[in-house]
Amino acid sequence: MITTSLKTTKSEEIFAAAQKLMPGGVSSPVRAFKSVGGQPIVFDRVNGAYIWDVDGNQYIDYVGTWGPAICGHAHPEVIKALHEALEKGTSFGAPCFQENVLAEMVIDAVPSVEMVRFVNSGTEACMSVLRLMRAFTGREKIVKFEGCYHGHADMFLVKAGSGVATLGLPDSPGVPKSTTSNTLTAPFNDLEAVQALFEENPGAIAGVILEPVVGNAGFIPPDAGFLAGLREITRDHEALLVFDEVMTGFRIAYGGAQEKFGITPDLTTLGKVIGGGLPVGAYGGRKDIMQMVAPAGSMYQAGTLSGNPLAMTAGIKTLEILHQPGTYDQLDRMTKRLTDGLLQIAKETGHAACGGNISGMFGLFFTAGPVHNYEDAKASDLSKFSRFHRGMLERGVYLAPSQFEAGFTSLAHTDADIDRTLEAAREVMASL
Ligand SMILES: *Cc1c(COP(=O)(O)O)cnc(C)c1O
Repeated sequence: MITTSLKTTKSEEIFAAAQKLMPGGVSSPVRAFKSVGGQPIVFDRVNGAYIWDVDGNQYIDYVGTWGPAICGHAHPEVIKALHEALEKGTSFGAPCFQENVLAEMVIDAVPSVEMVRFVNSGTEACMSVLRLMRAFTGREKIVKFEGCYHGHADMFLVKAGSGVATLGLPDSPGVPKSTTSNTLTAPFNDLEAVQALFEENPGAIAGVILEPVVGNAGFIPPDAGFLAGLREITRDHEALLVFDEVMTGFRIAYGGAQEKFGITPDLTTLGKVIGGGLPVGAYGGRKDIMQMVAPAGSMYQAGTLSGNPLAMTAGIKTLEILHQPGTYDQLDRMTKRLTDGLLQIAKETGHAACGGNISGMFGLFFTAGPVHNYEDAKASDLSKFSRFHRGMLERGVYLAPSQFEAGFTSLAHTDADIDRTLEAAREVMASL
């Protein structure tokens, strides 16, 4: 099954044409393979745990369209439900029953969410929640953490993760200083730094937003007591605590990080998994806060395609599948086998590495670690990661093309897939 020389003629042709049509040839920067070198492969189709590219190569996929494909790509039940929904049209621009169904599922699952608003992306969810934080508290400053990514809105493009980290962009041109002057940053897992920001800015901080498990600077879990500490500090200062669970929601547990760690924020953003592979985002939380959102309240936020029946349908089906008993245990067992295996192989082949998993979310850094924050993550050997990435690709394993992105497994990944992946990793690591 393992291929060692990759034929990518068609991918190269298509990507060359794409570069003349779209900036960098892509619709989102991290797809471009810039940090790992080489050219991106162009996908033809996806199914279960696998991808096929336009040259006919098959890969085991650990990106899962950046998280949403948690049940496996093109799950037959999701596809069937979508076919049925499609017969009734693609967009209503008016209320549809499916919104109630998905809203109820989200509210039942996610501890902080008493009411929810659907949008079309994680970026939109985070932009909107920021406006709501400010509207509700009447304060303008926010605290975010270095290496955390909350979408590409201006206010969050300060020491951001994901593509910003991957491409080593300091910040982005075009983001006015006046916009980011209210964005305060602290290192992840550093409660003292957060405490200091609150003391330096009395009565001015609307709240703290974070990825409760960082997935956009590689995989960085919270230290014991970090989330509880943030809950306490924000409560003491009458500020809001916001978990950006666009990645972790329904990924590390059905109820997200807040269920997993038993810490309930005031507001939560969601995306990725809840759209089942279609464009969806959502924000929700305490009813008294959510009642401020228009038209119930005065904080304006809207969307032509929001609550779209197709996206709602894919989300509902995906959550139904995930809600069955044992799904997260299965994801955890499979993913732990993968990360334990990778760490063991790294050790045997003499490479400094650290990493881990929570359920179906994982990471591997080429540094001895431990990694508690973005600064630690940056100590990784990026050149080694690039060669590892290329070697795995040539052996039919598709990993995120950046050291600073988490990996994802799905319910479709089997023990045989993990075995093949580890076999490939052994060959590659032995050759690094
Ligand atoms: C992916 C992601 C976003 C942005 O979501 P988009 O749908 O890409 O706009 C925001 N926050 C986190 C934590 C994410 O992982």
